[in-house]
Amino acid sequence: MAESANRVRQPPLTEPSSLSPAERLLLLEAALRATSYRASIAHRHVGPRAEDVDRLRALAGPLRDEGDNPARVLEELDVLGSPATVGVTSGRYFGFVTGGSLPITVAANWLATAWDQNAGLSITSPVAAEIERIALDWVLDALRLPGDAAGALVTGATMANFTALAAARHAVLARVGWDVESDGLRGAPALQVVVGAEVHPSVRRSVSLLGIGREQCIPVAADDQGRLRADALPQVTGPTIVCAQAGNVNTGAVDPLDDIANWARANGAWMHVDGAFGLWAAAAPERAPLLAGHDRADSWAVDAHKWLNVPYDCGIAIVRRAADLRAAVALSAEYLTETAVREPMHFTPELSRRARGVEVWAALRALGRRGLADLVERCCLHAGHFARHLSAAGAEVLNRVTLNQVLVSFGSAQQTLRVIEAIQRDGTCWCGSTVWQGRTAMRISVSSWATTEADVDASLAAIRRCMRQV
Ligand SMILES: *Cc1c(COP(=O)(O)O)cnc(C)c1O
Repeated sequence: MAESANRVRQPPLTEPSSLSPAERLLLLEAALRATSYRASIAHRHVGPRAEDVDRLRALAGPLRDEGDNPARVLEELDVLGSPATVGVTSGRYFGFVTGGSLPITVAANWLATAWDQNAGLSITSPVAAEIERIALDWVLDALRLPGDAAGALVTGATMANFTALAAARHAVLARVGWDVESDGLRGAPALQVVVGAEVHPSVRRSVSLLGIGREQCIPVAADDQGRLRADALPQVTGPTIVCAQAGNVNTGAVDPLDDIANWARANGAWMHVDGAFGLWAAAAPERAPLLAGHDRADSWAVDAHKWLNVPYDCGIAIVRRAADLRAAVALSAEYLTETAVREPMHFTPELSRRARGVEVWAALRALGRRGLADLVERCCLHAGHFARHLSAAGAEVLNRVTLNQVLVSFGSAQQTLRVIEAIQRDGTCWCGSTVWQGRTAMRISVSSWATTEADVDASLAAIRRCMRQV
């Protein structure tokens, strides 16, 4: 395409337009306000201040009979809402395990939101369906997963676990002649789900939503890093699903996937990998060996809104045999005609939904294989830097830092919580608390594209200051 055809024109406000001048100004104003917000994030208190959260009360009151001017509505949202946000997009936000949305993914999200496409069917949005198909192909490629696996774009890893486990439930019961989609679970052969002791709660929730029952999970002991111990896997018979984890939310540790795959093969079990953030390490050559055997599983869950740094909400379920996923979630109705192209609605539990694939496509297109590998590797190096310098400063690092997670103790539980509180109050960076294997710790998760060495150094200085104060 010629360069000139690509350039965005700014038509004068008097030109014929589908938008009134006021509507056009509203959209431009939103872009300006959002851009200012992002531009100022590095200079603000990372967590919101209590007084800014208190001011949200001004948004309340009864629903009014009459509407208000949209420009005023937007202003109110920005003036009251923006200061009360958590600075997740700051390079010094290390809470939970989140990403920080790359600017290109925010821009792609704005454009796709303006398109307002329903990504459920190719006829409601050929562009969303096609971009989603391409994005999923790229994800399989980047994560070194089988190229013919099927993918589903859902809201997050919780729904990705749910969707993949629905496919698993289908397959292991179909093998013993039970049609769970038609007949449900009443009277079905017993189905067991083997999980590590440190399984993410979203897996148990999925097992419960799927009617299998949380208490039917068979926990397997974890080692000193929180990894499922392959030597403790039980003897099983009958329909079985084993849930491995790539990336423990506390330690970042990856279960021994190759050994679990061997066990699954020997026991005829379906192997699922919850790799909400950790699966992205497969895209980084230096870290990929930690995930050896990850491609032998039957299904995977991964979050694009974590380490790929796209906006919420975006998780991906991946299933080796497309037929298993389709059998579990496909939809048919007379008004929904079959077509020759991939119909998104046959791969997810949802029908109408936003075009999440656009941001995944944009992130991977803008980063490329190398940019993605660098992003992951950089976060891991920053985590290692945190661990070394905090140890040197007299804190105790509880985990072996192999990925992007660092668990830090500042002494007793009380002492640790006091330091965390001081850090949050200081506002230079934000870290949360956790309890892992009986120890209270501060959790540092480096998952954002935006984190620089200077961010890490400034955060280390703030943490050391708070350690001295407490
Ligand atoms: C974050 C996370 C989840 C849940 O993901 P959501 O996107 O919050 O639904 C599941 N498993 C692991 C290992 C996670 O880190």
